[in-house]
Amino acid sequence: MKRIAIIGGGISGLSAAFALEQERRAGAALDYVVFESSSRLGGVLVTDHVNGCLVEAGPDSFLTEKPWASDLCRELGLADELIGSNDAERKTYILVNGKLVVIPDGLMFMVPTKILPTVLSPLFSFSTKLRMAREWFHPPHKANGDETVASLVERHYGPEMVDRLADPLLSGVYGGEASQLSVRAVLPRFSDMESQHGSLGRAMLAARRKMHASPNPARPLFTSLKQGMQQMVDALLARLPAASLRPGTVVQSIQPQAPGWVVSAGYGSDQFDAVIVATSTQSGSKLLEITSPEIAAELRSINYSSSVTVALGYDQSVRAALPPGFGFLVPRSEGKRMLAATFVHNKFPHRAPEDRALLRCFLGGARDEAILQFRDEEILRIAREELHQIIGLTTEPLFARVYKWPRAMAQYSVGHLERLERIERLSDQLPGLALAGNGYRGIGVPDCVRSGTAAASKSLSVLGFKRPQLSPA
Ligand SMILES: Cc1cc2nc3c(=O)[nH]c(=O)nc-3n(C[C@H](O)[C@H](O)[C@H](O)COP(=O)(O)OP(=O)(O)OC[C@H]3O[C@@H](n4cnc5c(N)ncnc54)[C@H](O)[C@@H]3O)c2cc1C
Repeated sequence: MKRIAIIGGGISGLSAAFALEQERRAGAALDYVVFESSSRLGGVLVTDHVNGCLVEAGPDSFLTEKPWASDLCRELGLADELIGSNDAERKTYILVNGKLVVIPDGLMFMVPTKILPTVLSPLFSFSTKLRMAREWFHPPHKANGDETVASLVERHYGPEMVDRLADPLLSGVYGGEASQLSVRAVLPRFSDMESQHGSLGRAMLAARRKMHASPNPARPLFTSLKQGMQQMVDALLARLPAASLRPGTVVQSIQPQAPGWVVSAGYGSDQFDAVIVATSTQSGSKLLEITSPEIAAELRSINYSSSVTVALGYDQSVRAALPPGFGFLVPRSEGKRMLAATFVHNKFPHRAPEDRALLRCFLGGARDEAILQFRDEEILRIAREELHQIIGLTTEPLFARVYKWPRAMAQYSVGHLERLERIERLSDQLPGLALAGNGYRGIGVPDCVRSGTAAASKSLSVLGFKRPQLSPA
């Protein structure tokens, strides 16, 4: 009987456990244990039910175009529970000089593909519009190495595009800043488009034409579950034997000891044949400090930012008065603490009754770690004050919830991909070790599912079980 330890019971660790469980049920002689320091499993996937509303504390959905999370849901028997975002309502605003301006039609991420709506939009100044026109003739450019997202976007469209779109969009996904994040790790398509086509606008248009020519019908941008993201965690837990789950157990260290690994947790230690570290890279670094100071140093150098979400429920009068659309983003130059807000009742069905409005505000991120230290009441006061300033909302909410996520969002800085290569080389020297989580090749839920599954594959193949080898973390 081979034994595998999984450290970290977030979606990455649980996906790894599910892959091992399937192998076990298929007859493989193996046993596994999921160690999770918190008393609940699921990591940042948490859904609350408040006053008839479904409130997501962490992620609310995943990108449909990345298939791994939906595929896992289907394997878990949740195919009928998958729902798409209400894309007919998809309209997002940017706060510009204190006013909400809608992102014009045809803007794909931050690349304009339709001339008229962009030219007529008050989102950009005349000089940025001029740069957009010139961008069309940008010659192909092969960058020598990695660079920040800000530097690539600025080369094409100037600094206003970085401030008004690149930064707010990236802070929504990574809680990070365009001036820090690696273009190769975060927007690899942009580097490819630039080297092949020169102009991002022309490249995007070519991609869009191809997409429209494809026989596949348009799919919603985001996918979620009727009962919220927690439904995925609950379905996973229902498939895993309770004896394999150890919530409330902090792992202190992992050390190789022939023929396997010793995992020290709580007051005891246990022997395993292989270990999957599915924590943040910061936690992983501490676990591996004694075994491999080199890998520990590489893992430590991947930084994380913190996030705060504030959910606010309102009555029908607020719902009727709010602007249509999915919500708004706030550029740093507007001088607010709020990074974004989602009008949840518009984005997904099944989230709020018809007579309720549900708002979700995002604060924190790489430039506002300090807010994590504030009391919930103070964070709520700031969110409400800024909602007043931005959308004129003064109504007392029916309910409010504040959720803090310290150091939860990995920041892929310049050189991230080279760092991953070094980490992979070093971890290959430690047989039986596999790494998974949001610190490596994608921060979204689908990427985490993929990394957990790939780590399980790596462990199985090292232990001599036949499994298709996916690329691990
Ligand atoms: C507020 C917020 C909103 C987000 N929104 C979206 C979204 O809409 N769509 C999307 O796709 N992604 C979103 N993300 C990103 C995505 O949810 C995360 O990247 C992903 O869920 C991380 O999963 P994980 O298992 O790798 O890490 P985690 O969920 O952080 O789990 C790691 C686990 O390891 C445990 N652990 C750490 N150290 C130890 C130890 N020594 N011993 C035992 N256990 C340990 C921790 O307690 C934790 O539970 C969001 C993230 C946040 C925070």
